[in-house]
Amino acid sequence: MEEFKKLTLRRAFDFLENSNGQKLVEKSLEVIENEDKILNAFISVNKNPEIGVPIGIKDNINVLGMETTCASKILKGYIAPYDATVVKKLRAAKFAIVGKTNLDEFAMGASTEYSAFGVTRNPHDAERVAGGSSGGSAAAVASGEVIAALGSDTGGSIRQPAAFCGVVGFKPSYGLVSRYGLVAFASSLDQIGPITKTVEDSAILMNVIAGRDENDSTTVDRKIDFTQFIGKDMPKMKIAVAKQSFNEGVEDGIKEKMQEFIRFCESLGHNVDIVDIDEIKYSVATYYIIAPSEVSSNLSRFDGVKYGLRINADGLRQMYEKSRGIGFGDEVRRRILIGTFTLSAAYYDAYFEKAQKVRRKISMKLSEVFETHDFVVTPTSPITAFKVGSVSDPLVYYMMDIFTIPANLAGLPAISIPFGKVAHLPVGIQIMGPRFSDAKLLGFADNLERCLKANED
Ligand code: GLN
Repeated sequence: MEEFKKLTLRRAFDFLENSNGQKLVEKSLEVIENEDKILNAFISVNKNPEIGVPIGIKDNINVLGMETTCASKILKGYIAPYDATVVKKLRAAKFAIVGKTNLDEFAMGASTEYSAFGVTRNPHDAERVAGGSSGGSAAAVASGEVIAALGSDTGGSIRQPAAFCGVVGFKPSYGLVSRYGLVAFASSLDQIGPITKTVEDSAILMNVIAGRDENDSTTVDRKIDFTQFIGKDMPKMKIAVAKQSFNEGVEDGIKEKMQEFIRFCESLGHNVDIVDIDEIKYSVATYYIIAPSEVSSNLSRFDGVKYGLRINADGLRQMYEKSRGIGFGDEVRRRILIGTFTLSAAYYDAYFEKAQKVRRKISMKLSEVFETHDFVVTPTSPITAFKVGSVSDPLVYYMMDIFTIPANLAGLPAISIPFGKVAHLPVGIQIMGPRFSDAKLLGFADNLERCLKANED
């Protein structure tokens, strides 16, 4: 079992070719049985999966015949009538879907504390959160319950939980991975991506899930081999470390890790500049207008008629109100209200339109930095995993997304890789690249990961 927990995708596929694939699935189910009593990484487990490499799927992505709850009461009992495109592709590539992983309700959150099915615990410290919203996926990979998992990332939901749990999380460029079968949160920001133990595994998964999809017109037609730079020597890079990585609000231990990361990159011959990207400070305000605006529209389909929960009442309007009132949790309701407000006739210009303009400014600033640098680096999160229940102010909670949001606003690829610990808690470093530089970004991150490992050994 200990050996299974450490398996990477590449080794798992070797195993699958040479022996009984059923074993992998059995082991995965066994580890889930043991670990999930404490972790609560899974909302549902598929007791009879096909033979293949065990993978977890965030429970806002459709898997035919299984419940898609989005960790919301409003979808309880909703069985997916089709496979998401990514799931179809995984099956074709011999992956076995062993379960649906926990998340904040409709992926709105950064800790899974907003899940209707209880919080996911951090495998490094069960008193702490695993991050979110893809906290179930990150905890499942970090604890070895599955070899890899899929998450979705609208403002950091793949990268931040990966950072909290000490694993790799990759948000691809907007348009590379089909969202057909992903329950929409904020459509101009959402991307599906991998959470894995190694960078190479993320690249392997990207080769499986990426590509143009007739069913999602936001996907682009680009053939990319995401593994092309894996295991290869890379040329020396020009890295822009955002000065904002050292702002107040960033934990001291994380600032020290950033300094250590800079020294590490320099020791490998890369060129590091500290670059002032002041626009980062607008990212949270911008996101928390744009994302809720899209939420208020996207979540209007959950009305008690089409999906899941229905609370009967006298009259249609009352039925809508009751079903939505009882079905949605507080955070989702808060965002629907904010979004309805920011899109309303009287406030559209002041909020939504303004936010769109600032979004453009943030994008343009990043493009400018990429004219002279290959990558932009920040901490993934300004803090390490916090204790369950310790953050109650929504504004404090939203500020945690400060470094991850810009990549979504600008449609850029970004990866979080583990970079040691502060006390006993993992730290993630985020590396962002220009749009569609995904293969190069993965190659660079893989290179760093290998050098780090060599230093350890
Ligand atoms: N934490 C952010 C939010 O609450 C990001 C969520 C996500 O990426 N799905 O919206």
